[in-house]
Amino acid sequence: ELTTELATKWFELYVQSIQEHKDQLNELDTAIGDGDHGTNMLRGVEQVQTVLQQQATANLSDLLKQVAFALISKVGGASGPLYGTALLDMSKYVQEHDSQLSNLIASGAAGIKRRGQSQVGDKTMLDVWQPVADDLANNQFNSSNLDQHLQATADLEAKKGRASYLGERSVGHLDPGAKSSELLFDCLLQVLN
Ligand code: ADP
Ligand code: MG
Ligand code: MG
Repeated sequence: ELTTELATKWFELYVQSIQEHKDQLNELDTAIGDGDHGTNMLRGVEQVQTVLQQQATANLSDLLKQVAFALISKVGGASGPLYGTALLDMSKYVQEHDSQLSNLIASGAAGIKRRGQSQVGDKTMLDVWQPVADDLANNQFNSSNLDQHLQATADLEAKKGRASYLGERSVGHLDPGAKSSELLFDCLLQVLN
């Protein structure tokens, strides 16, 4: 069950985590993209921080929606609309159904798939979101599994986004969006524990 309080803590931690990992995300994106993923995400989470300061009493659905709008308006790049869609779909899911965590993350993963026209195995953020949704459903959400999902993106050939221009030369590198997603779910693990 995700509550407004947990979600607020979760996103606060994520703001810090992106600040700390901005350079690493840019480096990962330099290897197989255009080097801006950390810079893009930092712009987004700075706006998320502003939203969190203003939305102290919002309900969960509204909070998720405000975070989604912050990311859509500021991240830019391919990743902004994808993270934004994931969070918007989670916001809608809460409104229409429940706030059970595995269902929520599954609805976010489905949003990324739809918006990105991507499949598991395409070497994108979806390769972290979907297995995390599955782990949550199977009570196997832990940091060792999370790290494995991220590491597994190194073996994949990119089929979507800029990294796909490299074809098989993308193999051997972690996907930057998978890394920023791993950071997001690492923050979630921290607030659940
Ligand atoms: P850009 O590539 O426009 O510079 P970013 O560097 O911010 O955008 O984000 C790149 C990340 O976006 C990739 O590492 C990948 O995880 C994700 N991504 C790109 N295209 C797609 C897609 N079609 N579906 C899912 N994720 C994608
Ligand atoms: Mg980029
Ligand atoms: Mg770019």
